[in-house]
Amino acid sequence: VLEINQIVKEFENGKDSKLTACNNVSLCFEKGKTLGIIGESGCGKSTLMKIIMNLEEPTSGEILYNGEDITKLKGEKLRQHRRHIQMVFQDPTTAFNPKMKVKDIICEPLLNFGLIKKNQKEEVAKKYLEMVELPAEFMDRYPHNMSGGQRQRIGIARALVLNPEILILDESTSALDVSIQKNIIDLIKKIQKDRNLTIGFVCHDIALISECSHMVAVMYLGNIVEIIPSHKLGNFAMHPYTKTLMDAVF
Ligand code: ATP
Ligand code: MG
Repeated sequence: VLEINQIVKEFENGKDSKLTACNNVSLCFEKGKTLGIIGESGCGKSTLMKIIMNLEEPTSGEILYNGEDITKLKGEKLRQHRRHIQMVFQDPTTAFNPKMKVKDIICEPLLNFGLIKKNQKEEVAKKYLEMVELPAEFMDRYPHNMSGGQRQRIGIARALVLNPEILILDESTSALDVSIQKNIIDLIKKIQKDRNLTIGFVCHDIALISECSHMVAVMYLGNIVEIIPSHKLGNFAMHPYTKTLMDAVF
């Protein structure tokens, strides 16, 4: 579905120096599967996700979505493309407008694309609240009147209303306590099955990532140093960084 080819992203770093956040990264997202991406803080994970989301332009390289390079899209074509790849942020509080009720937050993307009418908001909000296992009454709440886990569910609902093919989760559960994290992961797995969703799962917890992903890509200083089927992580991890991660857990 999504093929990342030799993506390089350089940032200006002071006067004459450059920082390479992504160094020739190539990855393949398979339809309906979860690709886990792990690596230490600052290794370039979020930069790569932002490039995939078209929120950041790569210095070089291409991203093929069903064969088309999406890094070159502009204007209305880009706007239409955005429906296919959606993201859930680490802390949706910062992504939500605090003055909007839950039903408006969930329905905003649909209204922006003219896909529903204002009088359909309640019906749609109800459906998606049910999907993320929250009571329908929540549609009239404001985001700050909910727990972190509940807000994260709203983030997932909002990300799914446009029926995207790919969902990017950038540390989306990292701020939650372990039992809530597990509930959200189970929910995401269920939705993935129902919708045949392709997921990019960025996470710094090797145990969680190996449980949730089909393949795990290990990123180190801007490079993908290995890509391993998650059930073989224990046997096939070669890179010293991956081994350190594994030793700490298993
Ligand atoms: P974390 O696990 O802490 O979220 P990360 O792997 O997501 O880390 P990135 O956010 O991708 O890391 O950052 C990679 C590197 O690029 C960092 O050194 C960061 O300081 C740098 N960087 C990111 N965005 C910019 C920017 N807009 N301008 C300059 N440097 C940037
Ligand atoms: Mg990050």
